Amino acid sequence: MNYKIAVLDGDGIGPEICAGAIKVLEKTAKKFGFGLSFSHYPIGGCAIDKTGVPLPQSTVEGCLASDSVLLGAVGGYKWDSLPADIRPEKGLLGIRKALGLYSNIRPAKLWDSLVGASPLKSEVVNGGIEIIIVRELIGGIYFGERGKSEENGNEFAWDTEKYSVPEIERITRVACELASKRSKKIISVDKANVLETSRLWRKTVHAYAQKHYPNITVEDMLVDNAAMQIVKNPAQFDVVVTSNLFGDILSDEAAQVTGSIGMLASSSLGDGTRGLYEPIHGSAPDIAGKDIANPIATILAAAMMLRDSFSQIEAHAAIENAVQRVLGQGYRTADIMQEGCKRVSGSEMAALIAKAV
Ligand code: NAD
Repeated sequence: MNYKIAVLDGDGIGPEICAGAIKVLEKTAKKFGFGLSFSHYPIGGCAIDKTGVPLPQSTVEGCLASDSVLLGAVGGYKWDSLPADIRPEKGLLGIRKALGLYSNIRPAKLWDSLVGASPLKSEVVNGGIEIIIVRELIGGIYFGERGKSEENGNEFAWDTEKYSVPEIERITRVACELASKRSKKIISVDKANVLETSRLWRKTVHAYAQKHYPNITVEDMLVDNAAMQIVKNPAQFDVVVTSNLFGDILSDEAAQVTGSIGMLASSSLGDGTRGLYEPIHGSAPDIAGKDIANPIATILAAAMMLRDSFSQIEAHAAIENAVQRVLGQGYRTADIMQEGCKRVSGSEMAALIAKAV
């Protein structure tokens, strides 16, 4: 088996963290007997500098010709004053659209050795935290009709949330697929006591899961309660499926309870197996080029790619175990440094994880 990976290094710390992830991927592929080839394409600020646009057509074609895509991060001070339509972030929206990626999956995991980094009390997090939020990414209120008007001398503004049954069904499928490899339970978050879209959401999620994934249990939770439960009893969550707006907010809340932005990965998936895998953090221009950025989020994103795009379940577990072991041995990059631990650079951290694989 040989998988072709398109690498979009991007800007700032992007190239450093992608290099770390590639090192770990190469070691893992060797151990588990599959092949990987990497082709690099520009996106974001570096693409603007090279071609005048944040997402050149050659990058889109390279990604479409690949089996999956690894992304570092885009953006930086240099491009901050450009007009909105040629900003680096436009490249991200463009590539998601070009690849038909309608779901965003963000696991928020609290690693045993980093329990102290969580802002929650130890008795709350002792049950462990691993919340996987599956967020609908290209529908709902962010994409609905909006406008402004003036009525009787008053200024009004409005946004609309609209979801179709097929849109809800396809995100439910992604959540059920993930849950079937895990706890076999999903929590669907909505606001069905108030919103019509939420009532359709709830009905559709249940009907689809019951028909296509009868072994998956679906539980409903209102979004206001979900926001409370994430800080009160995070251990009760595994796979959560929700709309674009609710997912945007809850995934940041869940990320925060794990305490460290340099540790969290995410993926965007569509109908096929090709996905876009990336850290949740940005290009961190303040620390770029110093070899102090934590590569673990990108390494974990690469591990998700092995599991979710290539079905290399054991290889994924080997990388997660390697991260666990290296953290357990007390190695830390600057952002997660704790008293009594050994500080290492970003490239040293990647090398330690590759060795532990
Ligand atoms: P950021 O995530 O880049 O940085 C926030 C803080 O976290 C900074 O202090 C940074 O040094 C630190 N940090 C981030 N990743 C780290 C890592 N791996 N190791 C250690 N420390 C890390 O967010 P920001 O500063 O708001 O944005 C910087 C640029 O990134 C902006 O241009 C923004 O538009 C862009 N951005 C891109 C993405 C993306 O590509 N997906 C996401 C968010 C922000």
